Amino acid sequence: MRARFAGKSIIVTGAASGIGRATAMAFAAEGGAVVCADLDEAVHATAAAIVADGGTARAITLDAGREADVVHMVELAGAAHGGIDVMYANAGISGGLTGLLEGTPEQWADILRVNLIGPFLAIKHAAPRIIERGGGAILCTASVAGLRSGAGCPPYSASKAGVINLVQTAAQQLAGSNVRVNAICPGLIETGMTARAYEHAREVGKEDRIGRLNPLRRGGEPEEIARVALFLASDEASYVNGQAIVVDGGLSSS
Ligand code: NAD
Repeated sequence: MRARFAGKSIIVTGAASGIGRATAMAFAAEGGAVVCADLDEAVHATAAAIVADGGTARAITLDAGREADVVHMVELAGAAHGGIDVMYANAGISGGLTGLLEGTPEQWADILRVNLIGPFLAIKHAAPRIIERGGGAILCTASVAGLRSGAGCPPYSASKAGVINLVQTAAQQLAGSNVRVNAICPGLIETGMTARAYEHAREVGKEDRIGRLNPLRRGGEPEEIARVALFLASDEASYVNGQAIVVDGGLSSS
């Protein structure tokens, strides 16, 4: 087994389910000591599964869009694992499908707070600890929805476009401190978030369209994002910085 993250301290937000859970488990399987963070109490099950597999993990419940919670998360990782080497700001909400003109300021504020201010806070508070260790990597989950107009949920798309820009800025500002910052842009991945989208599509009779839209004729698995996250966080990606890496089975290439 490879152990690319032996001796490394890693934080993953949104680790109770989906992409975050798969990525936390993958980091731990390669030797990383992981702080699994999520709003959902189920994050304790992620940490317990890692420990049951012989890995190192702790869980913390928090609101990734609340600064005091993020400060606490970073302090916990520092105290438990001696610092931070990798920060993966992955927690996000989809916000449901709405037209632009039906949106409300409250809906926009909710989505931007979790999806954009959350990653900003993670970078703000984790970067100094990563710099103390001599450098490392920061990842954020954006989306292919951030690369084009927001047909399904305009504030969601805007939040993910914002994440891509945030990552570019952070990469510029932190490169001199040996911290690389990249975004992952998943296409449709089979998680709790898309289960809700499938449910909506079923209600409006368009369920079969989702799979057919993808050149590979299927949605992605969370582990297919986790493998890219581990690559980007590893020394193998030492010259990859400030990028939005699309992992969508070819969806956006048409
Ligand atoms: P998911 O719903 O399975 O996981 C998201 C996790 O984030 C949940 O465990 C949830 O409890 C947590 N979360 C939500 N708000 C939070 C908050 N305020 N503080 C802390 N945790 C919070 O969905 P997923 O697909 O694994 O989503 C992970 C990321 O991937 C999200 O940023 C999402 O926008 C992004 N993404 C997903 C897809 C997809 O098709 N599934 C596509 C593109 C991008």
